[in-house]
Amino acid sequence: MGLVVQKYGGSSVADAEGIKRVAKRIVEAKQNGNQVVAVVSAMGDTTDELIDLAEQVSPMPAGRELDMLLTAGERISMALLAMAIKKLGHEAQSFTGSQAGVITDSVHNKARIIDVTPGRIKTSVDEGNIAIVAGFQGVSQDTKDITTLGRGGSDTTAVALAAALDADVCEIYTDVDGVFTADPRVVKKARKIDWISFEDMLELAASGSKVLLHRCVEYARRYNIPIHVRSSFSGLQGTWVSSEPLVQKSQQQGDKQVEQALISGVAHDTSEAKVTVVGVPDKPGEAASIFRTIADAEINIDMVVQNVSAASTGLTDISFTLPKTEGRKAIDALEKNKAGIGFDSLRYDDQIGKISLVGAGMKTNPGVTADFFTALSDAGVNIELISTSEIRISVVTRADDVPEAVRAVHSAFGLDSDSDEAVVYGGTGR
Ligand code: ADP
Ligand code: ASP
Ligand code: MG
Repeated sequence: MGLVVQKYGGSSVADAEGIKRVAKRIVEAKQNGNQVVAVVSAMGDTTDELIDLAEQVSPMPAGRELDMLLTAGERISMALLAMAIKKLGHEAQSFTGSQAGVITDSVHNKARIIDVTPGRIKTSVDEGNIAIVAGFQGVSQDTKDITTLGRGGSDTTAVALAAALDADVCEIYTDVDGVFTADPRVVKKARKIDWISFEDMLELAASGSKVLLHRCVEYARRYNIPIHVRSSFSGLQGTWVSSEPLVQKSQQQGDKQVEQALISGVAHDTSEAKVTVVGVPDKPGEAASIFRTIADAEINIDMVVQNVSAASTGLTDISFTLPKTEGRKAIDALEKNKAGIGFDSLRYDDQIGKISLVGAGMKTNPGVTADFFTALSDAGVNIELISTSEIRISVVTRADDVPEAVRAVHSAFGLDSDSDEAVVYGGTGR
């Protein structure tokens, strides 16, 4: 008998019908002879709605209280799912993150899992129950307060539990049929990927492909947990994310190894903003004090660009990108240290978007960068910032240009599918 960890995202449990459909799927996995642990997200857009509600009460709510509020979303779905399973004649018990042993640090709204002690879950499934666990939440080791893992964090809960329980597989059920070569909501001709390496998936996730959260993929790679991303609305095979290439059974050709694509896909992200620090003295230590200020405010940044200084003034500009949700905090922290750092002014721009091309083939293929820029230029898209890694190239553009730019790059690299259009079964894309 195997142990399977399944995770159902918000769009899969958006309403009572969705919960009943998911309950049936979970019961099927149990009837196939597995022990089943199901991690569940909040119903539909509940988390966004709770954040909106909090902001109506207080524009910058206290992290501790926001976490208390948001974890309620997952509690609702876990309890309803357990009820629906019992209605089908099977035993189920629901658990909060804290009860499931998800131990985190004490950083509210984006806590990191530091340990998982799933004793109660183990006992529950050993007694024949299906265990339902509230995703996205844990409890701080130090403060004992309830924490959340950051948006999309149920993915991480699932992989962390799969690792702690030594599960055979972690299945991530969502509203599309797997990981595609681009977001199917933007590119109708996106193609489903059968297998993708942890490395390429990490880059796609870090670049905004929210089908899997970056931290969840990091966790899966560290503990070597294969992930199967698939739809809860169809019975199709999805995408395998693992270290070793997938071996596919094919009747005509016998076993066939799926090869790593040269280009895995195109990702986009419109959740970031750009801060420009204007008039920074061009001398050692300036960048250090700017980014120390940002780090002390516990803000993660993404891209950084420093312009050439104007010889006449000896001043330069430094731009960086960060999550929009951290924008206010970053500006406040820099303003507070303005005298110490010594800059003229700050500019804040939240109308930007990022487009990234990801693929292992980039390491050895020198034409990729030129082709990428050509595709953007043919689409009339202006590039504002550029950053690269060994297997990724990213640009920042105007947010309005993103959909067109993603489609142009997808076509230019021959990624368009010539068969069916990619199906989006649910969700609002929020
Ligand atoms: P869930 O509620 O199941 O966690 P998410 O909304 O977090 O679902 O993630 C699924 C969504 O991710 C899809 O509906 C799709 O719009 C988006 N997405 C972005 N990039 C990709 C991609 N490369 N492949 C598949 N889906 C993607
Ligand atoms: N409900 C949380 C969110 O919307 C966590 C998740 O869905 O993974 O971000
Ligand atoms: Mg998600």
